[in-house]
Amino acid sequence: MNLPEDFVFSQGNLQDYVDCPRRFELKYLRRQRWPAAEVDDMAAFERHLEQGDQFHRLVQQSLLGLPEETLRSRINDDEVARWYDAWLANGLAEVPAQRWPELTLTARLGKWLLLAKMDLVAIEPGGAALVLDWKTGRHQPRPERQAQRLQTRVYRYVLAEAGARLNGGEAIDQTRIEMRYWYAQHEGDVLRFPYDEDQYKADGRFLRDLAREIDSCEVFPLTEEVRRCRFCVYRSLCDRGEQPGSLAEWEGDEDMALPTDALDIDALDEIAF
Ligand code: SF4
Repeated sequence: MNLPEDFVFSQGNLQDYVDCPRRFELKYLRRQRWPAAEVDDMAAFERHLEQGDQFHRLVQQSLLGLPEETLRSRINDDEVARWYDAWLANGLAEVPAQRWPELTLTARLGKWLLLAKMDLVAIEPGGAALVLDWKTGRHQPRPERQAQRLQTRVYRYVLAEAGARLNGGEAIDQTRIEMRYWYAQHEGDVLRFPYDEDQYKADGRFLRDLAREIDSCEVFPLTEEVRRCRFCVYRSLCDRGEQPGSLAEWEGDEDMALPTDALDIDALDEIAF
């Protein structure tokens, strides 16, 4: 048994396990501090993360009703201003009017909780139930790849499992659910992933099996995909090289890089819906 009963799964820690079991062990079980830089230009990397954070705060405040001019006047970064303008132009296209920004939902996953912290959930009574995620990275993934990301699978699954309180007490039919990614650096391009009952059942089996596998894992192996190690903070511990990968080649997900992904269980009561 590896996991304490109060362990909370998320798309971030599950993705880490799928990418590299050893990384999961170091990060979430041993709580190993970062011994190395993720990329070669950490100053630019951190600036990019800060820009992403600023953009997400702007959008959240906008959704909460703060006036556009007030928010615009607070932006002191040209790139963030461009992203915000793009979002104003089409970020909410075809998004239902009942909206819950920065919503955290939890569902049971075996003995544990599965948590999803969503940028926006929007529901049309009797109609679409969307989970939206704003992306500010340079890289826009191929749809086939994004469909397999744990974020896509976990967010739709958790909304199907735990969305009743947003829907007058009725569970949301899986066929109404869609995960939608919006890409700030690509003029608001979107990737859409609808849902259905078969995928929902497959996700439930997959996620429960994954949680049990992690719990019973005796040895957490190093990934065989050594290219991942170039951008991993643990590469010196794993003897997988000294030099960080180039920021220009980084294709990671900024949501995974933000420290907020390392969720503190003590904060859960304050944020869970
Ligand atoms: S350096 Fe490579 S093997 Fe080690 S934790 Fe990171 S991704 Fe896994």
